[in-house]
Amino acid sequence: MPTRTIRTFEATILNQRQVRDDLDQLGWAASKLWNVGRYYAQGMWDDTGEIPDDGELKRELKGHERYTDLHSQSSQRVLEELAEAFNGWFAKRRNGDDRARPPGYRKHGDSHPRSTVSFKAAGFKHDAQYQRVRLSKGRNLKEHRSDFVLCEYKTRPDVDLTEWDIQQVRAVHKRGEWRLQFVCRTTIDPQPPGDEVAGIDLGICNFAAVSFGGDSLLYPGGALKEDEYYFAKKRAECDDSFSREARRLDQKRTDRRTHFLHTLSKEIVAKCVEREVGTIVVGDLGGIREDENGDPTNWGDHGNMDLHGWAFDRFTTMLDYKAEAEGIEVETVSERDTSKSCSVCGRCDDSQRVERGLYVCDECGLVANADTNGAENIRQKVLPNLATDGGDRDNGWLAQPATRLFSRTRGAFFPRSEAGCEP
Ligand SMILES: [Zn+2]
Repeated sequence: MPTRTIRTFEATILNQRQVRDDLDQLGWAASKLWNVGRYYAQGMWDDTGEIPDDGELKRELKGHERYTDLHSQSSQRVLEELAEAFNGWFAKRRNGDDRARPPGYRKHGDSHPRSTVSFKAAGFKHDAQYQRVRLSKGRNLKEHRSDFVLCEYKTRPDVDLTEWDIQQVRAVHKRGEWRLQFVCRTTIDPQPPGDEVAGIDLGICNFAAVSFGGDSLLYPGGALKEDEYYFAKKRAECDDSFSREARRLDQKRTDRRTHFLHTLSKEIVAKCVEREVGTIVVGDLGGIREDENGDPTNWGDHGNMDLHGWAFDRFTTMLDYKAEAEGIEVETVSERDTSKSCSVCGRCDDSQRVERGLYVCDECGLVANADTNGAENIRQKVLPNLATDGGDRDNGWLAQPATRLFSRTRGAFFPRSEAGCEP
């Protein structure tokens, strides 16, 4: 059972200029309504020594002019936030924090800040196909122009809102512009595909090695690396590194990396579903970034630490929520000794790791792909007392993982034999 079923995705508004004035009005209206509620609460407090709760605030202020600037659900949310702010203050006081201050008025001199405006089910209409959302205004503000604000938005490329059930949309003013936040819930509460366990080892040459304990898959990071070279070269040709062209290249590089990671995480989750995996174990990235003394790893010729730190983080995040949508749990474990230990007999020795990507065990004679051996060790970390049968099993799969290559033209992964003839 997935435990985290609510998630908030932020989006930029593409038609910022067209909607800015309308959203400003709504944001100011929310501040004004907050102040009306704050003033009412003060009066009650002075008269009775008590602060009204959100139910009373809504009841008393429903007929107020400022209440009808916003959609009724948006206004309700403002008053709920005010009541929550008072409750937070009471809680702090109860815990002995004498310096805690009650929520203030939202006012800077004669002007109002742009408050966040929330739109619940009846207050927005989402058009997933065209990536637009229609936000309702209150009765008072409808007369001026149109009845609603139509925002065209863009989420991060790895977010697909059609997979989610949108509960609430929030318009948030940040760093000088309006943004949207989509508060979402998974539409399904999926059962895990099974109770098998998969282990993933992230690395430089092979971006990911996946072990299912019986077969394994290898995902070389070549496509990412080629992009790095390509964009580094193109960027060096720009006269001005702050030019429009340079920024366009940076954006394109980011999109390409994201696309690779998006496709990879999707592919791995699909492979896990096929094999009835209920738990994915990922080696903790801390071990990759730091050596034994806690210093940043020296990557030497393997290059670009920035890329990999970034890519591993993004990949893990994407894997996490794609797996969650299938009911698969993702755990991280320490990578400690996973590259040095033999996944068959368990022997751990610094001298065991052999060059050219092969792991050879002196104890039991295992010859394995080094990354597959690492992934299998990671997988075994969550298995209860695995019997080490010292080579009785057929371990051929450890030496011969199936390599899957990224085809950019087709936007998917293919077995090496099929993807080999890509241009
Ligand atoms: Zn061994």
